[in-house]
Amino acid sequence: MSTRTPLMAGNWKMNLNHLEAIAHVQKLAFALADKDYEAVEVAVLPPFTDLRSVQTLVDGDKLKIKYGAQDISAHDGGAYTGEISGPMLAKLKCTFVAIGHSERRQYHAETDELVNAKVKAAYKHGLTPILCVGEELEVREAGNHVSHTLAQVEGGLKNLPAEQAETVVIAYEPVWAIGTGKVCGAEDAQEVCAAIRGKIAELYSQDLADKVRIQYGGSVKSGNVAEIMAQADIDGALVGGASLDADEFVKIVRFRD
Ligand code: PEP
Repeated sequence: MSTRTPLMAGNWKMNLNHLEAIAHVQKLAFALADKDYEAVEVAVLPPFTDLRSVQTLVDGDKLKIKYGAQDISAHDGGAYTGEISGPMLAKLKCTFVAIGHSERRQYHAETDELVNAKVKAAYKHGLTPILCVGEELEVREAGNHVSHTLAQVEGGLKNLPAEQAETVVIAYEPVWAIGTGKVCGAEDAQEVCAAIRGKIAELYSQDLADKVRIQYGGSVKSGNVAEIMAQADIDGALVGGASLDADEFVKIVRFRD
């Protein structure tokens, strides 16, 4: 039986302005105010412009709901128009930062090298990276999904010291399942998540790999979360679309009910 605390994280993507964010987090805070869900860590990843509002709300909630950003610059500061740095996110007391989401890889041409630099920037400023990996449809159809995903894991963690790697969160998100309603079968997801843990054991140690949380992401909903969470190497979910509906996200957090 794993001792890893499940992490349910809502990736809002480019949705919810700061007023909508306040209303949404208030709903979550009320719905999750009892003790039942304490064995699950809950986080939201709002757009940058909502972070201050979310911080103000959850401060009074003793940080039961954690929050983080959807991206981070590899640089600490300077002439990088439009980017947001690790020191800025740390100042807003973010816990997490998603790095290498497939939408960043696809629309912003993020490479494993850049993803690796961002992972290091996150640790430099006390943030926990949620390193996103996963294959496109054609890669899965060619049967190369495991090797493709493991190469992204290796690239993202390159030269990362063990004391940092042991707290990383990996989100396995098959690109063809993101926002499409096509959920990866729980056993198929388990196959890749187990291989990811094996790769981390090879890079570091089994002991360290056993501490790392691996999430599944891709059309997770209240109706499929329990089956996904029943898999031995899946320690949470990165939830996009369904996290925008507070009632639905609460049901996902309470997957054991
Ligand atoms: C995501 O954006 O990381 C994601 C998994 O989206 P969705 O849940 O909508 O598939």
